[in-house]
Amino acid sequence: MSLLGSNSAVRLVMLGPPGAGKGTQAERFARAHGIPRISTGDILRETVLAGSEMGRAAREVMDAGGLVGDDIMTGIVTERLSRPDVGAGFVLEGFPRTVPQAMALDGLIDRTAPLVVVDIEVPEDVLVKRLQIRKICGTCGWTAPPGTTVCAKCGGSLITRTDDHEVVVRQRLALYGRTTQPIVDYYESRNTFRSVDGDQTEGSVAADLSAAVASVLGGTR
Ligand code: AMP
Repeated sequence: MSLLGSNSAVRLVMLGPPGAGKGTQAERFARAHGIPRISTGDILRETVLAGSEMGRAAREVMDAGGLVGDDIMTGIVTERLSRPDVGAGFVLEGFPRTVPQAMALDGLIDRTAPLVVVDIEVPEDVLVKRLQIRKICGTCGWTAPPGTTVCAKCGGSLITRTDDHEVVVRQRLALYGRTTQPIVDYYESRNTFRSVDGDQTEGSVAADLSAAVASVLGGTR
């Protein structure tokens, strides 16, 4: 049973720079609580693999380490959050990335239940090292844990993400500082906001994340 109680719909937004471990932690948390993990990066990578016109346009922006437009991203998340499986809660990862996206999210969700926002903090030099060794599956896009040699989901070969090469990594981190860090300021004053130290083992970050979410939900119910 969930640590957070049997009738809790956990609505969690994970913030943090590229390489902070948002995806790994979001997947782990979503699995433990039986709720969907919604990753806008994954949705975009699926669109790219599908080869649609929107996918081609998104790929150019992603490969350059830029951000896809707020209207497109808000449209994607609006559609995803309208599906019935989010009734039990969700983990949203990679969105919002700009203040307009954060404002759009506030308009999308029912404000009577808490939106828990957790920022995973990791020093920049650690992020650069992590991103340079990160591998994903070239076939299905799955992010492989360090030490993995083939995709555990489909058996495909692992490759470096086109946006994880050093020049693009530095560009993405700089963009994060300029564009996404302000959303930490946007949420920080809320009593549903928490920070977690992401420069620890995966298990310790997961434990701190669960405790952070429990502390918010315990205090707001
Ligand atoms: P991620 O897997 O979250 O690191 O996302 C990979 C890339 O997808 C980012 O570097 C952006 O180019 C794009 N992307 C993902 N989510 C968003 C978003 N919410 N707003 C704008 N661009 C996004």
